[in-house]
Amino acid sequence: MDLSDRQYQILDIVKEDGPITGENIADRLHLTRATLRPDLAILTMAGYLDARPRVGYFFTGKTGSELLTEKLKKYTVQEFQSIPVVVNEDVSVYDAICTMFLEDVGTLFVVNDKALLAGVLSRKDLLRASIGNQDLREIPVHIIMTRMPNVTICYKDDLLLEAGQSLIDRQIDALPVVKEVEHGYEVMGRLTKTNLTKALVELGRDQIM
Ligand code: ADP
Repeated sequence: MDLSDRQYQILDIVKEDGPITGENIADRLHLTRATLRPDLAILTMAGYLDARPRVGYFFTGKTGSELLTEKLKKYTVQEFQSIPVVVNEDVSVYDAICTMFLEDVGTLFVVNDKALLAGVLSRKDLLRASIGNQDLREIPVHIIMTRMPNVTICYKDDLLLEAGQSLIDRQIDALPVVKEVEHGYEVMGRLTKTNLTKALVELGRDQIM
């Protein structure tokens, strides 16, 4: 987010003379209170200013990087997750490879006949199974997948940083975003390293000061 010249002027006034009322800031800039309202709302929402009734606006003293860190710590999985790509545990390794290419993903989630999470398939799982001369059309994916309960999962309300830590700790590329149901988990989303990269880039673009 880029601040306008006027917003920088407001910050300077509040830094010097805060706490100061909106009306007084408006007077100083020879503007009406109404003209200033959106700017004050933006600066307050971004965390630079805080307002107390009957006291006025004051500078929070937080730097741009502190505000960015606060924002990053609040990101949740659901804000950045992608659509999951799911295959049944009985499909063949050959079909799973085709699905991975067609859907352009690096991780497939495997479900059982009740549509509950049964396992995970990564690119290397499929490559490993392809070494040798087995007929990949004859091998069901449940033979080669990483199976439950060894699958690392996350929930939509988890903090993005915690999910990222799981990816690092387990040295994996993706987590299924799940919902707990009777007898297991339904797969609701997919959280990948790419999603985390997007969060980081979005945050960088928001940098203000
Ligand atoms: P790659 O194939 O590129 O190495 P990963 O690093 O994601 O991909 O996978 C490495 C191994 O970890 C694979 O055997 C895969 O089945 C397993 N794996 C991937 N995601 C998970 C997960 N969420 N929970 C547990 N194991 C996983």
